[in-house]
Amino acid sequence: MPPVDIRLIQADDLDAWQRALLALCLPTAPAGDGLALEAPVVIVPTRAAGEQWRRTLEQRLLVDGWAPPTALQRALGHEVPGAAPAALLLPRTLTRDDLYEALHLAARLERPRLAALTREVLMGACARQAARRHAPPFLLRPGLIAEMVRFHDQVGRLGHVPTAWLEDAATRLEGEAASDRGAERLLRQTRFLHEAFRHFASRVEALDGLDEHALRTALLATPGAWCPRHVIVTVADHHADAGGLWPGDLDVLSAAPGLVRLDVVATRRVATSLFARLRVRWPGAIDVRIGPQRPSATRLEVSAPDRRWLSARDRDEEVIAYARRVKARQPMAPHASALVYRRPLPYLYAAQHLLRAAGIPYQSSGTLPLAAEPWAAGLDLLMDAALSGLTRATIVTLLRSPHVRLVREDGPEVHGPAIAAFDAWLAQGRFLGTLGHLDALIARQPSPLPPDGPEGASRHAVQWRQEREGRAVAVAVRPWLARLAPLQGVAPGAEHVRALREAWAACERLPTDDDPEASRTRRARAAVDLVLSQLEQALATHDATPVPARDTCILVRRWIEERTFALPRADAGVHLVDADAAPYGLFAHVRVVGLLEGEWPEPTAREIFYPAFMLERLGWAEERTRTAALRARLADLLTLPTDAVGVSVPELDQDAVVRPSSLLDELQAFGVDRLEPVPADERTLPVSGDDALLGTPAVPGAGVLDPAARDWARWRLTRPPAPTPGRTSAVPSDRYGVTAVETYLQCPFQYFAGRVLGLTEEADDEPGLPARDAGVLLHDVLHDGMVEWQRGGRVAIRPEDLPEARAVFAAVAERALLSLAPADRAVERTRLFGSAVATGVIEKMLRTEAELFGDVVRRALEHPIDGRVDLPGADGARTIHLRGRVDRVDWTDDGRVRVIDYKSGRRPTRPLQPGVYAHAVVQQEREAGRTLAIAPSGFVAFREGVPWVESVGTPRDADEQARQFVEAVDLIERGEFPVKPHSPFRCQFCDYAGVCRKDYVGDE
Ligand code: SF4
Repeated sequence: MPPVDIRLIQADDLDAWQRALLALCLPTAPAGDGLALEAPVVIVPTRAAGEQWRRTLEQRLLVDGWAPPTALQRALGHEVPGAAPAALLLPRTLTRDDLYEALHLAARLERPRLAALTREVLMGACARQAARRHAPPFLLRPGLIAEMVRFHDQVGRLGHVPTAWLEDAATRLEGEAASDRGAERLLRQTRFLHEAFRHFASRVEALDGLDEHALRTALLATPGAWCPRHVIVTVADHHADAGGLWPGDLDVLSAAPGLVRLDVVATRRVATSLFARLRVRWPGAIDVRIGPQRPSATRLEVSAPDRRWLSARDRDEEVIAYARRVKARQPMAPHASALVYRRPLPYLYAAQHLLRAAGIPYQSSGTLPLAAEPWAAGLDLLMDAALSGLTRATIVTLLRSPHVRLVREDGPEVHGPAIAAFDAWLAQGRFLGTLGHLDALIARQPSPLPPDGPEGASRHAVQWRQEREGRAVAVAVRPWLARLAPLQGVAPGAEHVRALREAWAACERLPTDDDPEASRTRRARAAVDLVLSQLEQALATHDATPVPARDTCILVRRWIEERTFALPRADAGVHLVDADAAPYGLFAHVRVVGLLEGEWPEPTAREIFYPAFMLERLGWAEERTRTAALRARLADLLTLPTDAVGVSVPELDQDAVVRPSSLLDELQAFGVDRLEPVPADERTLPVSGDDALLGTPAVPGAGVLDPAARDWARWRLTRPPAPTPGRTSAVPSDRYGVTAVETYLQCPFQYFAGRVLGLTEEADDEPGLPARDAGVLLHDVLHDGMVEWQRGGRVAIRPEDLPEARAVFAAVAERALLSLAPADRAVERTRLFGSAVATGVIEKMLRTEAELFGDVVRRALEHPIDGRVDLPGADGARTIHLRGRVDRVDWTDDGRVRVIDYKSGRRPTRPLQPGVYAHAVVQQEREAGRTLAIAPSGFVAFREGVPWVESVGTPRDADEQARQFVEAVDLIERGEFPVKPHSPFRCQFCDYAGVCRKDYVGDE
């Protein structure tokens, strides 16, 4: 076999790199044997890079008619015909994985390649088998199985046999394991990995399939010219690039029969360390230097001379700023500009939406994760429901997915209002999951017909209809949820996946032809179904071990996340391109976005099995080499556009403050004479209809607006200024509850959401009685106990009465507990009667009675207040209609009244009830011809160390609480509802947190 002509071609900058590459892609002068017409293979980092390179070839060679200068051809040792080609023999652009696929085909190997998914399933089975002999020092989670496959492959790509290296590592660790716990743990792990890899190797060997390592061995043993004659490598090695070539790949290429010439092309910055490593491997390689082919004239866009990058509030703002720049640079053709990102999300989504709104066409050969497709998200909700044990929240969320369709037995489809009724029905039945509980709710006796009939307007009728609707949905949902039964426990993974597929097939909403997203949804559906069927088949064939459903669902999620989904293709507009593909494009203007720490550079998956010093011997990549290579690539990228480049940095990412990347140092390479200021007024340029309409002030003259929107914007400019946040028009009410006004004092917006907007609170799924129901039970027991006590003509409970009082209250409590479910009954009994470590509520209440309230001569429970009451205000007395119930009013033997409120929790922080109700009761008495004073009033708060909390000690305290009440009512009536919680702690438990714009909190 003749020696391969290997050249290490170092280009001065990206432009020279592209021109050298263009020249190498052209066929050489006909040699007379016809072989020169074979297209070269170009190894690229991603398929998007290959697509970008195709466009550049067509543009440069067919449209611009570029021909490589003779000096360049000579330097490269690659002579091409002089005339510009009328047609182009396109090179084959292949990623690393595509290259193995192509070589496998070309060598005509009979054994097929093993799918990565099959290998992971096999590794899972081998790991569980190995764990039975050598228990690993960690839990065998699905994510770790994937890491084991990765580690196994990487050791192989570095030219080592994984089991041999592990044997060697175990021998070294054995000496230290006796005295070092870390070494002992590593030794256990090494023995486990060795055992697992040993099983894995023999099971792969027994299969009719080739993994990557076996393919390399098979290729090198196959005679015949299965390799292309000319291969051009444009990626770095594994040290410099996670997607680069590994020593095993380089060995296969350089020894491949049929290969005549191997070119590695890199820019000067990347080549410096890359070529040093390659020269060690290929000492006979020829070094080639390509100087600059055009003067560097790229300018840097800046918003201020002292800052080289452009700041944006968040990622959406980065895209909008880019859209403004594209418009400001007109008449530049859109295809001459590119938005370059490192991570596709969220830029690809944001750009689709925002550029469309700005009327800027775009094109991209990028891909999105399949998991980000709405269809895949629907399946995710189904898994959530199964894994949660069918809780109310997960079932209802799933039913609300636009990709789910369920039909009731009597015909109609289950829609939004029916789902809401079902949700309320489940909450009312305190449904905490499981099919059995759902069956019990369905079997419950329906409520009797309301007195005003099924279509009546009474509250009873509304609840009756809700119950009927909820039950009908439950009956429709039940058989479908039953399909998820295998996912409720441990079973072979294939059974889990089958159950998931069947349940999903039973509820999926297939796209209709008139759906604008039909094509995309169908593609996503096919891709998801393919993953599921491949997984089911692989698990059924290779791994019958029963595993928890959670492990199988993690495997499903992981494989859906692995797959990508191409965006619809377009051939016009600005380019949305990732940082790996961008160097292959031709642009006049580039905006690099998202220059953040943690993204440029991205943290690499830190090696999880072994410390760096052990991996060094394997030739493992070093973090600093990779970071240096990324820095070099960014520096190259900054010189790519012929005209200008801008670099933008968001301040927030998903509302979290983020830090700029340290790679921004590279921007210092631009001298002051190469800065291009972005005009300050461009930052407010309305670029979309939303910008023009919502700007302050609106811009009715913006070209993006249609006539109707323009008229609306003009009308808006004539409107008075927007009201202050947190203020509405006056909201007078004809009566007030003291508890509601206490809520206002805690947070005015909470009062507004609940009392003015009438938003209902979400029922929480919690084991045990909900707090509100537990409070009602406590009040009922105290009320009924007191009534029972007073039935014999007694009022006060004195110390000597305690044994008898205990018996009375215990009997009442036992009766009340009978109405609860058995599980709730046990919890509430402990609360009422206490336990070995805590005093019960009844005992606390009786002791308080005996110690403090022996002076009572008359007692009223649930005392009603409904009438106009004169209360002292800041500007004199104010009459307000009060409505409510006082938990308890005591008439004392010295002619006073005491107001008591029971609290199952702690004391309130801003109480009004004792003072306001004391005024109301005194006034009621006065109207009945009795004059009474106010006795110390307050709360019996059962979670306080000392239950009695005196809130009103003197009549002046009562006046002060009444004054605060009047003041709060005045504010309510003026429409003052700022988002201003008394304590931000309250927000953690607030039911209206989802509708509350808490951005005002803490401003003042
Ligand atoms: S979340 Fe906080 S600020 Fe918002 S309504 Fe609730 S308590 Fe008030």
